[in-house]
Amino acid sequence: MFLTISTTGAPERPASDLGFLLHKHPGKAQSFPTSHGLAHVFYPEAGDERCTAALLLEIDPVGLVRRGRGKGRGGSPDFALAQYVNDRPYAASSLLAVALGAVFKSAMKGRCDQRPELAAAPLPLTITVPVLPAKAGQDGGPELVRRLFEPLGWQVQAEPIPLDPTFPDWGDSRYVSLELTGTLRLADALNQLYVLLPVLDDSKHYWVAPDEVDKLLRVGEGWLATHPELALITRRYLARRWSLARSAMEQLELARLAEADDRELAEIDNAVPEQETEQEAEEKPTPLAVQRRAAIVEALRAAGATRVVDLGCGEGSLVAALLKEPRITEVLGVDVSSRALGIAARRLHLDRMSERQAARVRLVQGALTYTDARLTGYDAAVLAEVIEHVDPPRLPALEYAVFGAARPGTVVVTTPNAEYNVRWESLPAGHVRHPDHRFEWDRTEFRAWAEQVADGYGYGVAFAPVGPDDPEVGPPTQLATFTRTDEPQQAQEAANR
Ligand code: SAH
Repeated sequence: MFLTISTTGAPERPASDLGFLLHKHPGKAQSFPTSHGLAHVFYPEAGDERCTAALLLEIDPVGLVRRGRGKGRGGSPDFALAQYVNDRPYAASSLLAVALGAVFKSAMKGRCDQRPELAAAPLPLTITVPVLPAKAGQDGGPELVRRLFEPLGWQVQAEPIPLDPTFPDWGDSRYVSLELTGTLRLADALNQLYVLLPVLDDSKHYWVAPDEVDKLLRVGEGWLATHPELALITRRYLARRWSLARSAMEQLELARLAEADDRELAEIDNAVPEQETEQEAEEKPTPLAVQRRAAIVEALRAAGATRVVDLGCGEGSLVAALLKEPRITEVLGVDVSSRALGIAARRLHLDRMSERQAARVRLVQGALTYTDARLTGYDAAVLAEVIEHVDPPRLPALEYAVFGAARPGTVVVTTPNAEYNVRWESLPAGHVRHPDHRFEWDRTEFRAWAEQVADGYGYGVAFAPVGPDDPEVGPPTQLATFTRTDEPQQAQEAANR
């Protein structure tokens, strides 16, 4: 990221006096470590007539990610690549503002012992920011850039940068090339950039300080209070900074929730369905999770499956149950969560298994909403309590990956029956059983979904209850067994594409 500050000279003062104001000698190129990379200050020109200082911030995207990781829990595997391949090294974001604040600290305060009169005087200035993020749309784009800088006395040239100059049809990117011209105090100009770069930057910040409001007031002294966009500026400036604090809080909250969930899930899963007669209750009750695994194993046995993939295997309880079945020769467990897979590996004692046993089982990380060649060639696939964790708009992608691409002979799907929730004593009315559930379907909804998938991909489907089948609300868990019949239209169409 890059920005230049230029000024012109006058008879009584050479332009290169800019060096005094910035506290950086025009004859030298200097580098300063900042928290996000090296900041270089150098002068492409430093004459009597004109002087230009350049600030170049060399961002270390890998370092950014590592630092982010160290603080939070985990990181986001889904967006692993986006963390490294992004605009951070190129676009003048809030990180440039941070560097500006670090490298030109004294200049921002308007301090200059050698040329105090110069520091206090408005100077003819030109500031360029070749790549400035400014999301298009109502609250962005070149228009917003003008609304932010013009009231401060700048002449603003903000040209949208085309997405790709070779393909003008593609339109403009969300970046503009900015040139500001005006006669302002250098300290004011720097302070304005310090505040407005983060306001224009739409991505999240990697830093936060507790005294941001005070700082904004300090840096905004003399220009911010009367700015017509005061509300937008403060909202965005502070929201960006607070977003990190908030997201840290959210992460902690999520971690806490996740742990509570595991307990809650265990409680509900191990709860005894309340439909039992007294006589049944005297016998040792079977937890729902155990009943569910038994129902799945039974469905696989009925289908004659020997090679099974457990999609969304979680912590491996079904994998363990499948390995107890002698007729099942091979089990592949797939989950997107490396944490869950780690627990599964420990629980299954993968490291201590006999070679023969180990040859039967494999755990791999994968996302079910993407086609995956590793999932092809199995007799059967199981989606046990998984579909309700997938955002409804992503569900068709999972359907295609499983029924269209992997296409096992049998697919067993289980999901909660929302109607049964009124029977759980521990579940407040209107609540789902698990905070990560994106939906819970009643019997009609599940049937409609299953039939539509079966029709679309050339499967037949049969339904079975798991747990006590309540005459009014049905069973706690619903199970569907899909059996492949003919070649589906979708698969053929996909093959033709
Ligand atoms: N099948 C297990 C776990 C159910 S919990 C059981 O019956 O006990 C749901 C699991 O699905 C979680 O482990 C979650 O990580 C996984 N999951 C959710 N969405 C996924 C996706 N898109 N790709 C892969 N796994 C996913």
